[in-house]
Amino acid sequence: MQFALTDEQKHFVDSVRRFAAKFASGALERAHSPGFPFDVAQQMAAQGLLGITLPEEDGGQGGSLMHAVLAIEQVAIVCPRSADVIQAGNFGPLRTFAAYATPEQKKRWLPDLLSGRTVISLGMTEPGAGSAVTDLETAAEADGSGYILNGTKIFSTHSTDASLFLLYVRFAPGIDGIGSVLVERGAPGFKMGPPSMLMGGEQWSQLYLDNCRIPADQVLLGPGGFRKQMAAFNVERIGNSARSLALGRYAYNVAREHAVVRRQFGRPLCEFQGLQWMFADMAMKLEAAQLLLYRASVNADAGMPSAYETAMAKVSCNQAGFDVSNAALQVLGGLGFSQELLLEYCVRRTRGWMIAGGSIEILKNRIAESIFDRTFSQRKSAK
Ligand SMILES: Cc1cc2nc3c(=O)[nH]c(=O)nc-3n(C[C@H](O)[C@H](O)[C@H](O)COP(=O)(O)OP(=O)(O)OC[C@H]3O[C@@H](n4cnc5c(N)ncnc54)[C@H](O)[C@@H]3O)c2cc1C
Repeated sequence: MQFALTDEQKHFVDSVRRFAAKFASGALERAHSPGFPFDVAQQMAAQGLLGITLPEEDGGQGGSLMHAVLAIEQVAIVCPRSADVIQAGNFGPLRTFAAYATPEQKKRWLPDLLSGRTVISLGMTEPGAGSAVTDLETAAEADGSGYILNGTKIFSTHSTDASLFLLYVRFAPGIDGIGSVLVERGAPGFKMGPPSMLMGGEQWSQLYLDNCRIPADQVLLGPGGFRKQMAAFNVERIGNSARSLALGRYAYNVAREHAVVRRQFGRPLCEFQGLQWMFADMAMKLEAAQLLLYRASVNADAGMPSAYETAMAKVSCNQAGFDVSNAALQVLGGLGFSQELLLEYCVRRTRGWMIAGGSIEILKNRIAESIFDRTFSQRKSAK
């Protein structure tokens, strides 16, 4: 058993670290700007950091999921907000799109997405379907050579900036009636509400489909596609885990540095045992979660990590990222609570990832199913 990166992975980490150094200046400003940082995305695209796991024939780099995780870590440690670009270009709906799109769909949309000119947004959640996502009601009704879409989506990340939307829709009743479609911004009948702000500082707009007509070639996965979509969604969860952990690591590094130079009562903070034990707890949380994250990433089969290993990694990374960011903020005292530094940003962002992409509670339900080797329906049983 090996716990070290391979020489090739170390080389990759070094090259991303050197490249990402330029994003250190402007990190604070970027974190407080709600818009997607397209300028960063275009520089990352030129460096080969978008589409890391996609095959070269699709415009990707032919790398592994682990490479993409390492890239998030190295970018976030310098500029937490820029790690969202690695997420959007490697883990989120882009990955689901790339896994199942037809050659024509890839030709039409991938070049702009992989060059950082556009970004894609995922519309899964609805007002009545959050954790119970299979309750979604957005309907895709066959109409001649295409489909008519009706429904509402909420909380879609990057929805205020995206050009393309991957929407989960219902073609027919039941889980097997769920699939997905691709809708472009500005399509007739596709309207967006005013931007709203999340606690993490990201904007989103409610999406309204009001008799929105799409041609049949904009279906990504037809009826029966739900399970495939969720398999690809485990990749999204790996990116969510990696960002949580990386922001925790960023906050930890800042706090460690501060504890060495900041003096109170005539001594550096690191000499107080109360803080030493906080640091020991922080380091253990980060390292334990990182092992689960690396295991899920390295074991990914054909690029798709297992649901069980992903759930364990996400719960652990979400909790570690938030706990460590919060403890690090405490170490910085009033400065940690101010917007002069990014500690409070790390706390706000990591808090959101405990809800996004499968909440901690829902993922613990999934882990319990593996433990007992059976399913536990969350639904009220029929009387
Ligand atoms: C930062 C952020 C980004 C997001 N990005 C996107 C996006 O890009 N696209 C998208 O479609 N959606 C997105 N979402 C929405 C997200 O997927 C949902 O918020 C999430 O699935 C939870 O749904 P809900 O908010 O409706 O909460 P609910 O489902 O109403 O749950 C409320 C609480 O009850 C708990 N709960 C629910 N059912 C159970 C159960 N059976 N057992 C135990 N506990 C339970 C939940 O864990 C939660 O704590 C985002 C959310 C956030 C916060």
